[in-house]
Amino acid sequence: MRYSGFRVIAEALTGHKGWKPVWRDPAPQAEYDYIIVGGGGHGLATAYYLAKEFKQARIAVLEKGYLGGGNVGRNTTIIRSNYLLDGNEPFYEFSLKLWEGLEQDFNYNAMVSQRGIINLIHTDAQRDAFTRRGNGMILNGADAELLNRDQVRAMYPFLNFDNARFPIKGALMQRRGGTVRHDAVAWGYARGADMRGVDLIQNCEVTGMRIENGRIRGVETSRGFIGAKKVGVAVAGSSSKVMAHAGMRLPIESHVLQAFVSEGLKPFIAGVMTFGAGHFYVSQSDKGGLVFGGDIDGYNSYAQRGNLPVIEDVAEGGMALMPAIGRARLLRTWGGIMDMSMDGSPIIDKTHVEGLYFNGGWCYGGFKATPASGWCFAHLLAKDEPHKTATAYRFDRFLKGLMIDEKGQGAQPNLH
Ligand SMILES: Cc1cc2nc3c(=O)[nH]c(=O)nc-3n(C[C@H](O)[C@H](O)[C@H](O)COP(=O)(O)OP(=O)(O)OC[C@H]3O[C@@H](n4cnc5c(N)ncnc54)[C@H](O)[C@@H]3O)c2cc1C
Repeated sequence: MRYSGFRVIAEALTGHKGWKPVWRDPAPQAEYDYIIVGGGGHGLATAYYLAKEFKQARIAVLEKGYLGGGNVGRNTTIIRSNYLLDGNEPFYEFSLKLWEGLEQDFNYNAMVSQRGIINLIHTDAQRDAFTRRGNGMILNGADAELLNRDQVRAMYPFLNFDNARFPIKGALMQRRGGTVRHDAVAWGYARGADMRGVDLIQNCEVTGMRIENGRIRGVETSRGFIGAKKVGVAVAGSSSKVMAHAGMRLPIESHVLQAFVSEGLKPFIAGVMTFGAGHFYVSQSDKGGLVFGGDIDGYNSYAQRGNLPVIEDVAEGGMALMPAIGRARLLRTWGGIMDMSMDGSPIIDKTHVEGLYFNGGWCYGGFKATPASGWCFAHLLAKDEPHKTATAYRFDRFLKGLMIDEKGQGAQPNLH
């Protein structure tokens, strides 16, 4: 079923009786050509592009819970491509370009909103660093602008410009950055994949891997063994647990990251804003709630909930930047499990097991990467070679010391 304005009007006039379930609920088959483990944004996007762009068939996505129940539905919805390093910027710019055409591509309203993102500058050294990053972005075909203090004040007059400790001296702006309705991204990719014959199998946990003579033969699941020629793992915060089934120990730790939503307020924050002197970032949802976040909780955990000290720390960052936030009530918080890699950058690579591929290490920046991650992982699975924008995301960079270390940009355990 294609969605359109005409369809919405027709359904409104006929009692909405024509809407169909958006994806099937198939039983697992005995064998597939491709199994994608993990029905989050990255797994679903991988299956979608495998079928649509790389014309592959006999594909299944195995999800231990329900589609979109992981980080894809828990993040603070920010998209951007404001990275510095060559290993990262072309990839994230590719992703931003895919976001720009995504809704037309998968015929689903994901509320892609390019409302702009600013990174506030508080010191001269920070201005130098952001200028350098902006230049790097422009050299890679992205957009970047340096704003002075008056320009920031004209946009957001309620910020604490009189704070002598954290003076606001300007900002790096990317106008094409913004927000996307996160769960609609999972649903859009799921629908698009299902329409192309991909089996989306929920409540199906991968509990083991069958590997014979160095080659993957399939996966053990809570619904029995399922054979596969190729298996791609995209399970975000569960990466270390799932890859342990193949005898791999990853350069990844799992940590909790929390998100926060305030009560609905009148619109006053047009875009996305990050505080440069502490860890706090904020945008305002279409319903008026302030959506904000900050640091990870800072200890290893697989629990999808956070703790009070970090809530206090994030609230302090918000108060330092915009004291008015102190009058808003916090409506809800939740946590997601981050797959924190040791340099804050992702991995999209083959493994030592033939036919087994890995996608992870997205830390707390993987939502914006969803389209490019899916595309590049599908490219790797279908062609057995990395996509040109993802050549740096290999395991062996940890062996060779070729870290992709974006200080203050990607997440870095203990450092950011
Ligand atoms: C609070 C918070 C805020 C964030 N904010 C942003 C942001 O603003 N911008 C940004 O770019 N990124 C952000 N992120 C990061 C981003 O959400 C993640 O990097 C990204 O969603 C991870 O990829 P995914 O969508 O595939 O993960 P997930 O949605 O977590 O998908 C992984 C799936 O694998 C499944 N799985 C796990 N183990 C198994 C198994 N054994 N068998 C089968 N299935 C299994 C899980 O159930 C899950 O559904 C944020 C994350 C959090 C938690």
